[in-house]
Amino acid sequence: MENQILGLHHITAIAGKAKTNYDFYTKVLGLRFIKKTVNFDDPNTYHFYYGNEQGEPGTILTFFPWEGIQSGRRGTRQVTEIGYSVPAGSLEFWQKRLDDHHVIYNKVSEKFGEQYLTFLDPDGLKFELTVAKIEDERTPWTTEAISASNAIRGFHHVTITSNKIEKTAEVLTEILGYHLQEKAVNRSRFVTDTVNQAAIVDLVEAPGEAAGHVAGGSVHHVAFRVKDEATLMYYRDIIAARGLNITEKIDRNYFYSLYFREPGGVLFEIATDNPGFMIDEAQAELGTHLMLPEQYEEHRSEIEQILPKLD
Ligand code: ZN
Repeated sequence: MENQILGLHHITAIAGKAKTNYDFYTKVLGLRFIKKTVNFDDPNTYHFYYGNEQGEPGTILTFFPWEGIQSGRRGTRQVTEIGYSVPAGSLEFWQKRLDDHHVIYNKVSEKFGEQYLTFLDPDGLKFELTVAKIEDERTPWTTEAISASNAIRGFHHVTITSNKIEKTAEVLTEILGYHLQEKAVNRSRFVTDTVNQAAIVDLVEAPGEAAGHVAGGSVHHVAFRVKDEATLMYYRDIIAARGLNITEKIDRNYFYSLYFREPGGVLFEIATDNPGFMIDEAQAELGTHLMLPEQYEEHRSEIEQILPKLD
């Protein structure tokens, strides 16, 4: 039981305008702004992290906002929706809130015995707010407008769409420790028993659908969670042994990472719990400073001039 994948760690997507993204996630959805940093490969653009009160893995959604980026297209070989878990009885609140903020959404529906509400973010990224069967006990971030009885808890699931799901399913079950829990029409629900939350990956099989295009409003990659670097390297060995290309260990300041493309075309990452988001900001101050990696610190004033203003 030493080496385990502990569900989802984070999901990273591409956005357009930084301020639009910041306003939507912190104000409309009421997530906590966990970290404001820059794209390590392009320090004149931001990298935003949103999460729950503690900035826990399994709640972290990150964005690279690029002003003026073209829109992506949803399709196969992609993550096609992100599922957040919300408390029982909160969907009415969310429907009204999305209405008030002119967000595009669908009426409440149900799958696998759980109610959910689908909506699109300002760049067209697709979400579901799901009332999970098992009560989600993660501590949410709350705001004046969104109390704990309605607040988003963290990830419920992520959905990947493929022409054929078989090879992706093999990666989930044979490498990452997931098992098929349920199937309805063309959606197969895979779950890991190692964690109670952020434990689900849905695979949707859409044989005739065209491949998507990853750009604005689409998911760039999905990261699975391990507890430490020793576990990370354990998975590196078994993924490489299956003939998949996998990167070396990369230091992302807040976690260590490996990346590989699963056979269905989606970029997967494995990321560690350590060192976590409190390595450079105290819990109470998460997200309140512009954090730069060491190599850019001497260029701080220029970078601050160039980065779009958020208030
Ligand atoms: Zn990542």
